[in-house]
Amino acid sequence: MGDRATEIRKLAPDLFMIRTDFPQVYLWWDGSEVTMIDAGFPGDEPALAELGLPTTALQRLVLTHHHEDHTGAAADVANWGDVEVVAHRADAPVIRGERPPPRRTLTHEERAIFERVSAGIPPAPPCRVDSEVESGDIVAIGGGATVISGDGHTAGSIGLLVREPRVLFTGDLIVTTPGGPTLGHFNDDAASARRSAAAMAAHDVLLLCPGHGEPLTDPQVLSELEAALASSAPGVL
Ligand SMILES: [Zn+2]
Repeated sequence: MGDRATEIRKLAPDLFMIRTDFPQVYLWWDGSEVTMIDAGFPGDEPALAELGLPTTALQRLVLTHHHEDHTGAAADVANWGDVEVVAHRADAPVIRGERPPPRRTLTHEERAIFERVSAGIPPAPPCRVDSEVESGDIVAIGGGATVISGDGHTAGSIGLLVREPRVLFTGDLIVTTPGGPTLGHFNDDAASARRSAAAMAAHDVLLLCPGHGEPLTDPQVLSELEAALASSAPGVL
């Protein structure tokens, strides 16, 4: 998969998005430390080289959840150098291959999407997790990023809130589509995911970086999403 087209976009002074055909990953590079958020599929090495970074420059890999489109390359990336792999303690055993992922129960709509985008994705090879985190923990990104619960997408889904300059990584709890931001698909527990997403959308941010879709910069759109998530009946979003 390494020959697919790769786009690198600078979103903020220290933040880059690396996007291949389907997954996207983020790189926080503040001049001294390099952190990757999610690993996508194999094939991000050329993008790092284009930024003038050897793979050995990577210090940290944060996995927002165990799904294979986010962890497919994690085992590879973990071996690039002295890389600390960070994930929530509830997803860590799945990422390590110690426990199978829970069976997915897909809605009718999700089944069609799953067959279109996910059916051909191979299972992610097991990857070590060095640091298990929980919501409220601080990860050393920027001046410190707070781990935000994304419970419901998977039990150990996390977002990251970088306080300065108010950037929110949402994993797949909140994704963006041409129609705007929405609750992500393939949730283990849709009701919990909706509650977590409403709480996540309530943060005052300048830039929202989803696991899928375009980054979002309009805070008004985010507050509308929060209201919609908080009020909607199950299945509306
Ligand atoms: Zn995903």
